[in-house]
Amino acid sequence: MADPSPIAANLKTILRRIEAAARAAGRDPAGITLVAVSKTHRVAAVRAALAAGQSVFGENRVQEAAQKFPLPGAKLRLIGGLQTNKAAQAVQLADAIDSLDRPRLADAIGNAAQKQGRLPELLVQVNIGDEPQKSGIALADADNFIRAMRARFGTSLAGLMCIPPEGEDPLPYFQHLATMADTHGLPVRSMGMSGDFEAAIQAGATHVRIGSAIFGSRA
Ligand SMILES: *Cc1c(COP(=O)(O)O)cnc(C)c1O
Repeated sequence: MADPSPIAANLKTILRRIEAAARAAGRDPAGITLVAVSKTHRVAAVRAALAAGQSVFGENRVQEAAQKFPLPGAKLRLIGGLQTNKAAQAVQLADAIDSLDRPRLADAIGNAAQKQGRLPELLVQVNIGDEPQKSGIALADADNFIRAMRARFGTSLAGLMCIPPEGEDPLPYFQHLATMADTHGLPVRSMGMSGDFEAAIQAGATHVRIGSAIFGSRA
């Protein structure tokens, strides 16, 4: 008989690998949150993960996320580049926005939060490899931007997020992000995906964002 829920089995495997990576790094596995990235997958997949005990989910696009969330028991993190005109909907829907990366987006989020009386947790996305095509605040501007966001949003600005350059050893990039978070006294470091989360845990990730290793490959 075929396994009725590969998602549950995949989750189990990933949680075991997170635990092993944490122990290898001398860290408490409880300090690492698995963000199950459900972008492009149906709400049925999210429900299967929820039924298997997973509670934190990541989505890239606000419109797609709004078709699946809110779901009772699920926390939603928006992890993709966010358009300013989607900020109000993002503030309404998300428990966290991991991709704050420019002043105009901060204004839009701040205005929406004031109107709605609700402010999600925020992470500053840092363009850690200084890649021209990638979202994230440029390295040269990052310290000033993070300070300004901390001043504006207080402890709701909880940490930093990054996606290292493809095809390179990610570890030095993860270490760089962790150092920046330390410098600014920020507790949250969202880094590591299906292919590199163990290195991210080694470098101090508090949130790993894993999609394909849980839900299968995307079309
Ligand atoms: C899609 C995505 C992920 C998950 O990637 P996988 O390789 O499928 O684990 C993580 N973070 C961000 C920002 C993403 O867009």
